[in-house]
Order: sequence, then structure tokens, then C-alpha cells
Amino acid sequence: MAQEPRPLVAGNWKMNGLAASVAELQAVVARASSQPPGADLLICPPATLIARFAEAAKGSIVAIGAQDCHTEPSGAFTGDLSAEMLKDAGATAVIVGHSERRSLHGETDDTVRAKAEAANRAGLTAIVCVGETREEREAGATIARIQRQLGGSLPEKLDGIVVAYEPVWAIGSGLTPTASDIREVHGMIRKYLTTQDESAGSKVRILYGGSVKPQNAKELMAVANVNGALVGGASLKATDFLGIAAAYS
Ligand code: PEP
Repeated sequence: MAQEPRPLVAGNWKMNGLAASVAELQAVVARASSQPPGADLLICPPATLIARFAEAAKGSIVAIGAQDCHTEPSGAFTGDLSAEMLKDAGATAVIVGHSERRSLHGETDDTVRAKAEAANRAGLTAIVCVGETREEREAGATIARIQRQLGGSLPEKLDGIVVAYEPVWAIGSGLTPTASDIREVHGMIRKYLTTQDESAGSKVRILYGGSVKPQNAKELMAVANVNGALVGGASLKATDFLGIAAAYS
């Protein structure tokens, strides 16, 4: 049996954080350095804070990522940031296809795939998000939906990418799927990945995201093929974020 990939606990700060928030990042760095969890740690602040956070986390076990990128390396795209620019600012990873980007910015699977390819091109880890809506789950269409999203959103090369399963209805709602529902989806994702590429697919980390808290992290992270978490709200506070990472201590 293939070795389990090393877990990753990633925080998505969304549109939260000002310069003063570096203190929260410093608290994560300090505590993670004195008591390292058995997982890689990544914080994705808003783009305005990437360079500052990367400087503050330099040499520590905490990596810094971005929340989105453009598909092109440069050009006339007012307001956008390329994967190359994010890397230049100190990011090592970028989230693509988060459900808020899909629903609020009309991103399609094709767009998400192009962004994941852009991340690969720039040498950033692409964290590709997929997830069903409440209606899709209630209609029994979850597996088909996730398979379609994987087929449309994943880049050609799977080496080094991360997949995040985030049911849309679980994000920010306090609700989570049952352990058995998560096991079913993550198992299907692993099968999909290894069918595409046996070696690379077995190494891809599959994160669960959606209302992960210190209180439920241990149970959620114990599910087969869950290789870490993508955390929204609870990543804004160092104690909560590290409380989640402690599921791997
Ligand atoms: C997210 O938005 O990626 C997320 C998982 O949010 P929350 O943890 O707040 O549900």
C-alpha cells in the first residue's frame, strides 16, 4: 500500500487582515516552532500581506500562500495578479477554484484548470478546490459532481498539487458531512487521481474543508484519505489554527 502523504493544514484568511495581523502570524510561527505539529502548515492571507507574512515566517515551518491567481504570467489585466508575481512576493502555493471564486466570480472548471496550470508553470503548489452544493447533495449527485469538477479543473500534471474537498454547504455554516460521507468522497478522489497517474496520484494531499474547528479536527482528520484541512474562519486565530493542526500531534 502506498505511503500516506504528509498532512497539510492550510488557512484561508479570505478578505481579512491588515498590517497589524502580522502579530497573529507571528504567534503561529512561534508556537509551531516550539511545538511542531506532524503536519505542514500554510497560511494564505490576502495578497496585500503575502510579502510581509513571507518575511515574518522566513526560516520557519510555516509557508505562505495566495488565494487566487490569473492564468497569464503578465499583461493588460488590471487588478489581477499572476502566479509568478505571487511567487515573487514569497508565496509557495495558491488556492484555485475556491467555491467563493466559482460562485461570486463565475469561475468555470476551465478557468480553474487554467489557473492550476499557471500555478504549475510558476512553481507554486496549486490547491484545487471542489465541492457540491446542498441541492446536489440532497439530489444524490455529489459523487458525479465532484468527478466532473476533477475532470474539468485538474491540471495535466498532478505532481505536487493538492486537492481540497469543500462541500459548499459546509463552508462557514458550522455544518460538516458525516465521517462516512467524507470517506466516500475522499476515496473516490484518491481513486480518480491514481487512475490518472498511479505514482503522482497516490502522493496528492486531499484536504477536507468546511467548518473545521479544533473541536472536530481530530475526528475529521482521522478519516481515510483525509490528508489535512483547508480552514477558513478558524484560521484567523493562532490558537484555533494550531488547535486544528494539533490533530496531528
Ligand atoms: C473555506 O472557505 O475554505 C472554509 C473551509 O471556510 P470555513 O472553515 O470557515 O468553513
